[in-house]
Amino acid sequence: MMLMQHDVDLQPLCTLATPAKAAHYCYATTLIEVQEALACARMRGWPLMILGGGSNIVWRADFEGLVLHMGIRGISARAADQGYVLVQASAGESWQQVVDFTLAQGLWGLENLTLIPGTVGAAPIQNIGAYGVEFEQNFVELSALRVEDGALCRFDHAACHFTYRDSLFKKDGHAYVIIDVTLKLSQKAKPVLSYAGLADFFKDTPIEALTPQHLADAVAQMRRAKLPDPKDIPNTGSFFHNPIVSGEQERELRSRYPDLVSYALPSGQFKLAAAWLIDKAGLKGYSDKGVGVHAHQALVIVNPGKKPGREVLAFAQFTAQKIEREFGVRLAIEPQIYP
Ligand code: FAD
Ligand code: NAP
Repeated sequence: MMLMQHDVDLQPLCTLATPAKAAHYCYATTLIEVQEALACARMRGWPLMILGGGSNIVWRADFEGLVLHMGIRGISARAADQGYVLVQASAGESWQQVVDFTLAQGLWGLENLTLIPGTVGAAPIQNIGAYGVEFEQNFVELSALRVEDGALCRFDHAACHFTYRDSLFKKDGHAYVIIDVTLKLSQKAKPVLSYAGLADFFKDTPIEALTPQHLADAVAQMRRAKLPDPKDIPNTGSFFHNPIVSGEQERELRSRYPDLVSYALPSGQFKLAAAWLIDKAGLKGYSDKGVGVHAHQALVIVNPGKKPGREVLAFAQFTAQKIEREFGVRLAIEPQIYP
């Protein structure tokens, strides 16, 4: 039976720790509870926000609607053909539980995506990615409830419109509640070592000796060295997307900054490392009134003062304006902002 609560504190439900309250809140642990909560919001005309682990959001102010907190748990696996295993996980399961589940079985696919906070249901939203691997590479299908009428729908890979840190679900914010996700993992070795840090880590190890757990351990070590744990220092991971610029703009920037960090894309455009731009602008480690740029990773805005979302966003705007003035490059914010 669904339990509807009112006037609920949202600060502990956001890794950035921005203070806010929800007028209505429901932690749903079954499909029926999600359906009941959606029907209730529809009937009362409440705006809807779907919450997972709160690691990619900013509360800008109180939310005068229903925060539907996804709590459906469970992971299962079944063998598929040609050495593949299909893993199905419910949306409220922690992403790390799924990664650990696959690592324990020696399956390849999610090892580079270890230690990304949050839930399974949020992983398709921005097609989570790290160290040269993206969620979509192992994705088979997902099921989701359509918010407008509660219908249960299935989405295959093509239907999700995955791109770099984006998908149909991010563009169509809150049109669907993701319920479960099916992934295809391989028993055959498939190490992705395209990132310099990982390649360096294993430069003396023969490729055939690598296991998914080795890669996951290396990624975990690198992440722990660079990224602040939100339990210690509130943050929401990368605050900005890496900007994509034309070849012409990249050449112009490189003529001014020979040490520019950029990556050529198949389209002929270039991805710039936003962290490099922020560092070059002198903001790495800079802080103002309890909000700042992390000292070890300039793409992470930290909120040790647990300041309101508006103050964090003002700091982000200050950062983005400085980057635009110095490099002529516009930074876009990665986390979703509510309301
Ligand atoms: P939330 O923050 O709760 O929600 C994010 C968005 O997804 C919201 O719009 C929400 O409405 C929507 N949503 C959540 N669940 C559902 C659902 N079931 N149905 C429909 N919509 C839903 N991201 C990366 O891509 N790569 C990284 O390497 C990475 N590293 C990070 C490191 C740190 C320290 C932190 C704090 C964050 C990092 N992130 C990274 C960002 C974040 O962890 C991911 O985006 C993650 O997928 C968010 O999951 P969540 O459950 O916390 O989502
Ligand atoms: P890094 O290795 O210092 O690299 C800096 C940037 O350069 C990254 O953003 C990465 O882009 C890009 N890059 C590096 N090597 C690349 C290659 N061979 N090809 C294409 N692009 C390359 O990055 P980091 O800050 O330590 O993070 C490591 C990984 O974790 C990155 O993939 C990053 O996206 C991910 N991460 C994401 C978040 C988040 O909240 N979204 C938070 C922490 C870490 P990409 O970002 O496109 O990979």
